[in-house]
Amino acid sequence: MNTLYGWTGKLLQADLTAGKCTERNTLDYAERFIGGKGMAAKIYWDSMAPQRDAFHPDSPLIIMTGPLAATPAPSASRWLVAGKSPSLYPENFACAHLGGFFGASLKQAGYDGLIIKGTADSRVYLSLDNEKAEIKEASHLWGLTTRKTMEALRNELGDQVRILTTGPAGENLVRLATVATDAGGSGSAGFGAVMGVKNLKAIAVQGSHIIPAADADGVKQLRQKIKKMTGEGYFNLYGNPTPIPEADIIKPVRCHGCPQGCWRSLYRTASGEEGVRKCQSAFFYSLWDKRLHEDLTVASFHATALANDYSLCSMELPGLLVWLEQCIEKGIITERETELSLADAGSVEFIEALVKKIAARQGFGNVLAEGVMRAADAVGNGAKELALDHFTQSGRGIAYGPKIFSPSALIFATEPRPSVTELHEICEPLIKWALWYTTEGTFSYVSTALLRKIAQRFWGSAEAVDFSTYAGKALAAVKIQNRQHAKDSLILCDFAYPLYDDASSEDHVGDPALESRLFTAVTGIEMDESMLERAGERIFNLIRAILLREGRKGREDDYVPESQYIEREEPVYDAFGMFNPDLYLPGSEDEVISVKGKALKREGFARLLNEYYGLRGWDAATGFFKKKTLEELDLADLIEPLGEKATGTEA
Ligand code: SF4
Repeated sequence: MNTLYGWTGKLLQADLTAGKCTERNTLDYAERFIGGKGMAAKIYWDSMAPQRDAFHPDSPLIIMTGPLAATPAPSASRWLVAGKSPSLYPENFACAHLGGFFGASLKQAGYDGLIIKGTADSRVYLSLDNEKAEIKEASHLWGLTTRKTMEALRNELGDQVRILTTGPAGENLVRLATVATDAGGSGSAGFGAVMGVKNLKAIAVQGSHIIPAADADGVKQLRQKIKKMTGEGYFNLYGNPTPIPEADIIKPVRCHGCPQGCWRSLYRTASGEEGVRKCQSAFFYSLWDKRLHEDLTVASFHATALANDYSLCSMELPGLLVWLEQCIEKGIITERETELSLADAGSVEFIEALVKKIAARQGFGNVLAEGVMRAADAVGNGAKELALDHFTQSGRGIAYGPKIFSPSALIFATEPRPSVTELHEICEPLIKWALWYTTEGTFSYVSTALLRKIAQRFWGSAEAVDFSTYAGKALAAVKIQNRQHAKDSLILCDFAYPLYDDASSEDHVGDPALESRLFTAVTGIEMDESMLERAGERIFNLIRAILLREGRKGREDDYVPESQYIEREEPVYDAFGMFNPDLYLPGSEDEVISVKGKALKREGFARLLNEYYGLRGWDAATGFFKKKTLEELDLADLIEPLGEKATGTEA
């Protein structure tokens, strides 16, 4: 038998109801769906009956790595948890991405992924030591925070063990419950609650297999090329740890096989509390902290620790709190009903009370534990309209939204839970351009002329970065979705790929072919940029098929909330607004426009959607599939189960 590179060739399936573990063949899925998001989506399509809810015993919890994980490919050992998300409104397929070491250890234990089905009749954890899988008793872990669970399992199994767990919120089936892993990683979409309903407290993995690359020298050369591209003159948006008030940076913390690292770092407060912090989760409470204390304090650090310990989603908590305050301000609910003192929001005591109430489903916490959209339904009286100012109709917080970036209107409209990787692909080159514009080139070489070349190469046309028009935006959205679905199947770190710009070359245009070249070097299978993009397109369409099969109504459901059409000045909390508070964007030729206070145009969006359906090969009237499109994407097996949703008018 030829040596298999990249994949281990095996998936472990644990049936918690039967208390049995069996193996499946990864290669049944790899050719069409690569790994990660693609493979998880196909396993879900094959195994999840559409009418079943996220908490049904047959609802699978899928943990996937990609073919590059645990190999020498740089920043390529991310992994994900997938399944029916209880946090989406309505529930639907979603993926949560994580870093750290668990994914690489799973590969080194001999498996490309885990499929957990059924419900254990008592509290358990799954232990995997190389190929030895055991379902073990976990009553001693139940009720513990994520930190305490990891400590207890390390004491039990040794320091080398890598862990996935959930905290009290997951045990209590809170819909915004996260899963947590080593090195401060966590994943949203409510999969902590799916672990909870399965009576599964944790998964502990250790492995010692080596995952070789087919062309080790080729991988090495690509590593060196990436190092050169991101060398002197390169502005790495995520390169340096961000100072957190009243906490010292102790050391950078890198995921498995990441040469460059990012701002993921270990911090320590004056009282000796330690924690890894990165990105949005480090600052989710800062709005209230700053409002109460006039500056950021240690309350922000504690808030992140509390959310992580109790396994609550730091992406959803701030929107939930903004919505709660607005409901009280408008008299929709009273402060008394919430049993919270909103005047204290910003303090450690307030966030502790809020987190514990939600995690324990205590009092009004039981309403909030359902997530903002279901909580708004329960509260009624206009609460839903308020929620839709900050969230999409599926309950996804709106960041890098349509009011600023027109391509993201299509991404938010067609996906109930767009991954941040897609939204980053729009905003990151534009942040670098904004830095060039606002500092007259001091901090960034991404000029308007360079941005247009980048857009031509990555988004399909130079006019994609002329924000005075909607031209080129539908093609940009299609290309971004396709690329990012392929990337999330490999699975590559969002902070490292794609490389839009290149510090080492004369024209500074980055290289969108790096990902496919890495795939070939690791697996030995030929793949070029367009083939990988086509694979991403197949995976995107497979996920669309899942949505349609589970009840999405096609064009009727492809919309953005009304709030996105309303012109008004709004605070912008995302990184683009932080770097560029006047929201400057390039217009035509040398023009620069500010989109502050502006909104999406209704007719413009309708035109964009028509153009988008045409590029996707979907029926423009219904948003359903054309049979031919599925056949051309090698997805003919989806046609029959989709019925009338795959018989759109032929072109
Ligand atoms: S860039 Fe940061 S998040 Fe990405 S793999 Fe490296 S350490 Fe992990």
